[in-house]
Amino acid sequence: MNHFAPQTLKSAEDFIARENEFGAMNYKPLDVVLRRGEGVYVWDVDGRRYMDCLSAYSAVNQGHCHPRILAALTEQASRLTLTSRAFRNDQLALFYEEVCALTRAHKVLPMNSGAEAVESALKLARKWGYAVKGAPAGQAEIIVCANNFHGRTITIVGFSSDPGSREGFGPFSAGFKMVPFGDAAALEAAITPNTVAFLVEPIQGEAGVIIPPPGYLKKARALCTRHNVLFILDEIQTGLGRTGKLLAEEHDGVEADLTIIGKALAGGFYPVSAVLSNNEAMSVLHPGEHGSTFGGNPLACAVARMALKVLVEEGMIENAARVGERLKRNLEDIRSNLVKEVRGVGLMLAVELDPEAGGARPACEALQARGLLAKETHDHTIRIAPPLILTDEQADWIGDQFKAVLT
Ligand SMILES: *Cc1c(COP(=O)(O)O)cnc(C)c1O
Repeated sequence: MNHFAPQTLKSAEDFIARENEFGAMNYKPLDVVLRRGEGVYVWDVDGRRYMDCLSAYSAVNQGHCHPRILAALTEQASRLTLTSRAFRNDQLALFYEEVCALTRAHKVLPMNSGAEAVESALKLARKWGYAVKGAPAGQAEIIVCANNFHGRTITIVGFSSDPGSREGFGPFSAGFKMVPFGDAAALEAAITPNTVAFLVEPIQGEAGVIIPPPGYLKKARALCTRHNVLFILDEIQTGLGRTGKLLAEEHDGVEADLTIIGKALAGGFYPVSAVLSNNEAMSVLHPGEHGSTFGGNPLACAVARMALKVLVEEGMIENAARVGERLKRNLEDIRSNLVKEVRGVGLMLAVELDPEAGGARPACEALQARGLLAKETHDHTIRIAPPLILTDEQADWIGDQFKAVLT
C-alpha cells in the first residue's frame, strides 16, 4: 500500500474535510486555505487574495516570504543546518553579537518556540533565586498577571487564568502567584522574601491588546529593583517592532532583567526564540543544566540575523509607529454603535465590539469575504496586526473594510 497521498485535494472544502478527518481539533481556523504569501498579502487555493491582518500572531512582522530572509535561509540551508550545541557553528557568535548590539542585552540564551523561551526564563529566575538571592531551597515564588498568555506547556498553563487553557491539564507546578494586570499596589503586596521574579507582558496580546495604566511598568520595575526580584518582560508578541519600537519596554523607558523574544525573530521562516539578560542572571547556568537540540542552530541563527537586519534597515519599526497611528485614527473615525473601543500601540491594534454587536467571529467572517483576514480574540474583540511594511494606502483600505462591516 502506498502511504503517500496523491495530490487529489483541489477545492478548499477538500482540504478542510481532510484536515478535520486526520488532524487534532485544537484550533478553529477561519475556513480559508492559503497557498502563497508575499508581503502583506496571502492567496488561497482558488487564487483569491487577502490582506493578512494577523501576521501569524506577529511572527511575520517583516511580511510574507521576505526575499532577503528567504535568500539567507536557502543559502544557509544549502551549507549547514544543524550541528547541535555539542559542536560550535559559525553563525551563533554573530547572532549573539548582533542581538546584543541591537537590544543592549549582555547575554543571550537561544531557544526555538516562545513557550520554551518562557520556560527557560522561569528556570533561570529560580536558579538565580537560589544561587544569588538566597531563597530557601524549593521555596522560590514567581509572580504572574491575571489574563496572561505565555504559551502552552504544563507549567505555563498552570499559571493561566483562562479555564480553557488550564482545565484538565493538572497537576501543575507550584510556586506561582497571580496578581491583577496593571495594578502595582497588588504586585507590591504579593512580593515576599521568597519572590524571585515578576513575569509580565508589556501589553497583553492574547487577552485582547490590553494596555496597562501609564507608569505601571516603571512602578513594577522600581518594585522589582527595591525587593531584589527579577523583572521579566515577555516581548514575544510586543517585541521586534510591533508597537513602533524595537521593544515595547522603550515606550516606558524601562529595562527588564530578562526579556523574552520569539515570533518575528525569524520573520515567519523558522521558530527562533531567545532569552535576553541584562544582569548577572545568565551566569547561574552551567554546562549541562539547560539546553535544546535545535536551539542556536546555524540555520536559525542565519535566518534570525537577516530577519533583524531587514526589520532595522528597511525602516519597519518607524513605519509601524507612523502607519499604526494612521490606521488607529481610521478605525477611531468609524461612527458605529457596534464599536465599543479602539485601542493599541503601533500596529498592535484591536477593535472591541459592543456585546450587542453579534460577536467578533461573524465580523471576521464578513471581513474575510471582503478580502481581509483578521482573527477574533475572546468573543467581542478583533485584533489587527498586519505586517509592519503596511503602506498608508493599505491602512486606509483596512479602515474602509472595517467601516463597511461595522456600519
Ligand atoms: C505567542 C506567545 C507565546 C508563545 O509562543 P509560542 O511560539 O507559540 O510557544 C508566549 N508569550 C506571548 C506573549 C505570546 O504572544
